[in-house]
Amino acid sequence: MRTFDVVVVGGRVAGASTALLLARAGVKVAVVERAGRGVDTVSTHGLMRAGVLQLSRWELLDRLVAAGTPPITRTVFHYSDGDHVQVSIRPSPGVDALYAPRRTVLDRILVEAAEESGAVVLHDTAVTALLQSPDGRVRGVVAQDDRGVRFELEAALTVGADGIRSLVAQQTGAPTIHQGSTASAVLYRYIRGLDADGYEWAYGDGAGAGLLPTNDQATCVFVGTTPERMRRLRRSGREQAFATLLTAAAPALVDRVLDTVDWSPMKGWAGIPGHLRQSWGPGWALVGDAGYYKDPITTHGMSDGLRDAELLADSVLEVLAGTPEPIALAAYQEVRDRLSMRLFAATEEVARYDWDCLRARALLRTVSSAMSDEVDHLQALPDRRVGPGIAAFIPTDNVDRAG
Ligand SMILES: Cc1cc2nc3c(=O)[nH]c(=O)nc-3n(C[C@H](O)[C@H](O)[C@H](O)COP(=O)(O)OP(=O)(O)OC[C@H]3O[C@@H](n4cnc5c(N)ncnc54)[C@H](O)[C@@H]3O)c2cc1C
Repeated sequence: MRTFDVVVVGGRVAGASTALLLARAGVKVAVVERAGRGVDTVSTHGLMRAGVLQLSRWELLDRLVAAGTPPITRTVFHYSDGDHVQVSIRPSPGVDALYAPRRTVLDRILVEAAEESGAVVLHDTAVTALLQSPDGRVRGVVAQDDRGVRFELEAALTVGADGIRSLVAQQTGAPTIHQGSTASAVLYRYIRGLDADGYEWAYGDGAGAGLLPTNDQATCVFVGTTPERMRRLRRSGREQAFATLLTAAAPALVDRVLDTVDWSPMKGWAGIPGHLRQSWGPGWALVGDAGYYKDPITTHGMSDGLRDAELLADSVLEVLAGTPEPIALAAYQEVRDRLSMRLFAATEEVARYDWDCLRARALLRTVSSAMSDEVDHLQALPDRRVGPGIAAFIPTDNVDRAG
């Protein structure tokens, strides 16, 4: 059996980032990821200011830019009552622009950075069960690789970064402390030859839509509505549903989108209500969608994952420096919940699709203000660039004695 300080289940935005930050601080960490290296996943791509700030603070933003991810310097809001509001992205320390990377780009950058820092990343390997002591403390995982070989990894802490249907949450019985009731069903595809004016979001007639310029000179175009309406529309085919929802949400975008010819096949998401789960217990913690998932209509899940990876990593480092586990991990959850609840509530209402344009504007102002609070919190965190290692988190007098 191999032994680590921390085993992370799931190696995408939340898991790879948690592993990266812990490995940079000198923690012995392994990541177990069921999917293959660099494989895509169902998601559009909008990083908000908090997410870009995190990548910048971790010195990874340059890699995103070098991968050809176009800078987003403005956001345009289209309302079906004919109103348009254009907002320039104000440069701030570390954030010159926003970015909407393909997941094949972003997840790979995070995984590679974690590996460069010393994390062991096992792709094509699924965690099938948790190892537990007789007193119920989680002490690692049972995994199986793609050749069917089963093995155990022991760890002081097991982190579930394994997405909405988290096995770690299931097997620890992590209670849901807040359950959402609304959801967006989404269709999206990539289009070339569309001159998107930065992020463009559109709202109207019970539907939402958006344009996100991404890698490979493509623009991701999505439409969303309630799962019930989407099911109804899809009876006439996905193309018809896509065109109907685009027309409902974004009359101003229809001609620009439908006049292009280079379209990728469509991808779909049926819609699942959000959740906020208890995110720690003896020997385990949850991060990313595993612990906190909200509807994608406010395009904030990746930014949440990057944020919570750092909040969790800091708490884990405090545990390793001597703070009792329940105190450090409860503090992680407290901050996560405080930064999340306003955005969660506003997103719930946006995903109800029963607003008029006036109410949509008010909800989006709430979303924007909650995101500003989050950015303020992240900007006040310590510098997380490469080094200086775990000693930075151990009280100075201990370091002196060790030296
Ligand atoms: C349609 C849609 C559009 C979206 N658009 C945006 C957007 O524009 N902007 C944004 O910020 N967010 C968006 N999101 C949300 C975003 O995709 C998620 O919040 C984000 O992927 C969460 O990252 P994560 O690392 O927590 O989980 P995930 O990305 O779900 O990764 C979890 C990983 O765990 C692995 N795993 C699961 N079980 C096991 C196991 N037993 N063993 C080993 N590995 C396991 C999976 O293979 C997976 O790779 C969107 C989501 C959807 C559905």
